[in-house]
Amino acid sequence: MDDEEIEQASQNKSSSNFAKKKFRRMMVMKFGLPILIAALITLMCFLLLILASQGEESCYTNDSNIGGGNSIAGNWKDPNSQVHKDMQYAADQFKTQAGMSGDNIAAPLAIGLRESQFNPKAVNPGGQVKGIWQWGTGGVNGNRYGNTEDTVESQVTLAIRELKTSHVKTLTDMKDANLNDSLDSWDINFEGLGVGDPQRKVEQIRATAKEVKEVFNLNFEGNINTGDGDIDQGNSPDSTTCDSGGSGTASGMPIDGDYNITGGYPDYNGDAGSEHYGVDFQTVNHSENGEESNVYSVSDGTVVVKQFDPIGGNHVVIKDEAGKYVYYGHAPSLDAIIVSEGDKIKKGQHITHEGQTGLATGIHVHVGVNTMNQFGFGPHSAGIISPAKYLKFFPAEAIKSEGILSNDGPLVVPAGPFHTENKSEDNTND
Ligand SMILES: [Zn+2]
Repeated sequence: MDDEEIEQASQNKSSSNFAKKKFRRMMVMKFGLPILIAALITLMCFLLLILASQGEESCYTNDSNIGGGNSIAGNWKDPNSQVHKDMQYAADQFKTQAGMSGDNIAAPLAIGLRESQFNPKAVNPGGQVKGIWQWGTGGVNGNRYGNTEDTVESQVTLAIRELKTSHVKTLTDMKDANLNDSLDSWDINFEGLGVGDPQRKVEQIRATAKEVKEVFNLNFEGNINTGDGDIDQGNSPDSTTCDSGGSGTASGMPIDGDYNITGGYPDYNGDAGSEHYGVDFQTVNHSENGEESNVYSVSDGTVVVKQFDPIGGNHVVIKDEAGKYVYYGHAPSLDAIIVSEGDKIKKGQHITHEGQTGLATGIHVHVGVNTMNQFGFGPHSAGIISPAKYLKFFPAEAIKSEGILSNDGPLVVPAGPFHTENKSEDNTND
């Protein structure tokens, strides 16, 4: 029931007694007007307070009583609280299954508090992320969460699996790391945040991690072993749903085989939500080092930019022969971009890999197109156009309508799966 309904219900009740109501109205008119006004002001302030406090929490939809409902993180220091027990469970698993030290473990526990109040049911619909560590469930972040359950057990299992495969760098960087370095490793390698990203709240998270270490007695050494095969160095996708169908040259698409469009243009969801001035492509098999995650140039051209930034991560920009620029973002490392500035590139040439550096928590490639500026790939950058206007054989199912900005091309909505051989008509528009 919302406030309006409550108000209506109480009005209905009072209208059932007409005489009482009339009397009250008289009293109000005669004596009570100042009191009424004061009461109204008080009520409005109260409502505003409620609205303000809801605003703060609007990132998360806590629809469960796990961890004690709304006060989920408030009592994490209390050994009898559910959230404390959940954190203890995670700590034990990280210790026994991943060989993490006390300092190492304080990092994911503290970051879990920051990300979700350590609530396995936390959901951020705007960012399409969920769970304790706010994994991507689609959209810009790709779908890392998959069919994980909204429970601590299931999510800790997912985290440990990722620590041993796709996100092994989190663990290798944590070997012998102190508390602050462990926080850096988890934020940068696991959360995909840039070193200087304000989302990290570095000072606060360091203080929280220190408290976590004390409360959970995380005073033990680790035995992370990355040298003898304990840790899988990468995903080995178990099969080949992905028919590679050649080199990717024929498609004029940045990826090859089966893929999804996980982030639209000019908003992640295509026409609502936060701005996203590119399109995210994610192959169905999307490890960071397998061939299925290769990214191919969609045009002939020259490499003009190869660098890292906190949003696009490691990215490469290729200037085509008509002077337009195509941006490919989030490569796992600069080395994963296998071309260099100045290189001449052929359409269909393997240039980089899907990854999730920068502002991304799922493995994908972000493709942006600018007609005039090699650095203009942010929201409203002059010259930016819809990738659907530029790419040949863009899947028609992902194109929603004409662009909302003049001449910048059609809207794109997340869709798929597609196969690069199942082309729709050539809608190139240049
Ligand atoms: Zn993107």
